[in-house]
Amino acid sequence: MNRPRLGLFLFSCTESHHMKRKSVHRFSQRTFFSPLFLAKLQTVKEHCLQLLFPRVCPVCGKILKLPKGWATLLSPEFTNRVYSAQCSKRTAENRSFLPHRPSLSGPDTSLPLKPSLSYCRSILICPDCCSSLPLVEGPVCQKCSKPLILQDDCFCESCRNGTRYFKQGKSLWIHDDSARKIVYDLKFHNKRDNADLIAFEMAVQMKSIISEWNAEVMLPVPLHKKRFRERGFNQAQLIAERISFWLSKLFGIVLPVDSDYLLRTENTKPQRILDVSARAQNVKKAFVVSTRNGQYAKRSVILIDDIYTSGATLNACAKTLKEAGTEEVFFLTATVV
Ligand SMILES: [Zn+2]
Ligand SMILES: [Zn+2]
Repeated sequence: MNRPRLGLFLFSCTESHHMKRKSVHRFSQRTFFSPLFLAKLQTVKEHCLQLLFPRVCPVCGKILKLPKGWATLLSPEFTNRVYSAQCSKRTAENRSFLPHRPSLSGPDTSLPLKPSLSYCRSILICPDCCSSLPLVEGPVCQKCSKPLILQDDCFCESCRNGTRYFKQGKSLWIHDDSARKIVYDLKFHNKRDNADLIAFEMAVQMKSIISEWNAEVMLPVPLHKKRFRERGFNQAQLIAERISFWLSKLFGIVLPVDSDYLLRTENTKPQRILDVSARAQNVKKAFVVSTRNGQYAKRSVILIDDIYTSGATLNACAKTLKEAGTEEVFFLTATVV
């Protein structure tokens, strides 16, 4: 979907101080407006954006009632959307063109003061749909957190019968109609705002386990170059980058994303069209670890993906990482089937 030049103009006027990267020098000239004028312009910008391109609830489609300051909070995401719409093909070939990549050095202090969770949530989803999304609760597999059929078991069938290379993993929601809609709209209908909702809820719900794991970096499950070009983005990478943003923004936790370490060298068939036994075979030799750009073996990583089904993809990624010297591999996914 193409984004308006008006939006980009308003955005570049008020947000230019956020853009410090050389790759976006076209938009990074300093402004000479007073803070009061900038604040008013910011309000006008928010009204214009909401009027022209209203933010809607990703589940029921109702227009959201947005609080003041919402566009500032989501500004890196908005930048991404404007840039992605304008140069999706170029972006696919050269990811470094994307202006917003989470800082490796620390929390982003250029954004406003710490917002409340309810304030952030009101920008992302309506209250009714938010309360109806089914979090993964109750007895779950101690390895992969898949809900268990028999309450006395400790592990699900797949984890009991096969080798698991990851140490532990968690999923946010059960893959019911609402959660599926959020993930599929992101993945197949280019609704990139949904990555923000998924990442926000993941950061909020899994903050303590993320701290406990004490991982060094998040690695999105990679797409093959060809699939990346077709889609224009990797949904796992978007989710990972936004988790990093929300962790830093809400809790001051620094957890960077590295999208260039784990690579997919085989363009495998989509897992959803295969049965359980064919899935592991499909992704068996699909991943490699990059040795370029002075990359070193990671001590402990969290893999990020959208859907957990049989765990075959995440297990193949974890195996590749372990063979490359990573000591501990964890994972987080948006939904579990
Ligand atoms: Zn709703
Ligand atoms: Zn399991």
